[in-house]
Amino acid sequence: MATAYHNLSDYDFNSVPNAEEMKFGIVVSEWNDKITGALLDGAINTLKKHGGIMKEISVKALAKVNLGLDVVRKRPDGYHEVRMIMQTIHLFDRLEITRNQSGRITMSTNLAFLPTNENNLVYKAAALLKEEFDIGDGIDVKLHKHIPVAAGMAGGSTDAAAVLYGMNRIFDLGLSKEDLMTRGVKLGADVPYCIMRGTVLSEGIGEILTPVAALAEGIGEKLSALPPMVKCPVLIAKPQIGVSTKFVYENLKLDADTVHPDIDGLIGAIRAKNLEQIAGHMGNVLETVTIPNYPVIAEIKEHMMEHGAAHAMMSGSGPTVFGLFANGDTAVAAYEAMRESNLAKQVYLTSIYNNAR
Ligand code: ATP
Repeated sequence: MATAYHNLSDYDFNSVPNAEEMKFGIVVSEWNDKITGALLDGAINTLKKHGGIMKEISVKALAKVNLGLDVVRKRPDGYHEVRMIMQTIHLFDRLEITRNQSGRITMSTNLAFLPTNENNLVYKAAALLKEEFDIGDGIDVKLHKHIPVAAGMAGGSTDAAAVLYGMNRIFDLGLSKEDLMTRGVKLGADVPYCIMRGTVLSEGIGEILTPVAALAEGIGEKLSALPPMVKCPVLIAKPQIGVSTKFVYENLKLDADTVHPDIDGLIGAIRAKNLEQIAGHMGNVLETVTIPNYPVIAEIKEHMMEHGAAHAMMSGSGPTVFGLFANGDTAVAAYEAMRESNLAKQVYLTSIYNNAR
């Protein structure tokens, strides 16, 4: 079954730095993993003891889906208050970050349509730390982009989070996870979550807000870790349409008829580690806008359900749909059927990712 999973798992190597890497001051890190994190710390200390400096780090930037997304109310100032259950999945971009002496921030990526200048969140994250810590050296970033772009999977935010993490290591800034989250919120409301990762309840004002407003409202403080989600296969399908987050929120009607997902019930089901119960409580209020406007989203959901998903739902403001499966073989068959259906341009089979914290 493993071979049928998306070939990103090919990148999923053991990250213990070997002697050759140590010699050149290159350390490859499996971000945040408890064991390899400790090994990495040990490796960096050894490197420092021998007068070496860390020159390069390779970091995974993991995507998220929303197991639940509710908009509680629209405030008079136009901001939407949300309650979301965020879940990290094992679909990721990889960032190779190399220290340079030119002092410049440069980046390249496999996707030609992405900006590689100061409009990329990778650049913004690097510039933020470089300025605050008055870092003379620069960095070159190679971004291997796999997470669907503008798709409700926090792709840009997780890349920014990975740069903050990587630069903290390379330049030995000594920042804690909380310190990184405080910096992250300046870049985007989802960045603190991408640093935290796992199964998290996010409350407050949502992703359409400016980062500064998010900081003022303390979005980082409103992230609460939940017990780890049941580990199961996750099928991802992104149709070839663009959905504007602004359009979705502007067209969201909240009235007495609005069916809100039961976020508290979902939290209970996650605590109970019962996939069937979780599936029964999943919901995304933003589908009330996207499904009537983009019927392909409903078609993809139906396709996944017909092929045995415990539940299928849109992530964030879409258009990506994800399905959770109780059984690996069923998930593989659904993945193959989805690829043949031509409903979606990007199709991945991946899994729930939970850090041991
Ligand atoms: P969210 O789930 O937080 O709403 P998203 O999946 O909708 O995020 P992103 O993939 O983060 O959206 O990208 C949205 C826009 O941001 C893109 O159109 C792109 O031009 C820009 N962008 C800037 N930096 C990046 C990056 N590193 N990766 C992807 N997009 C980026």
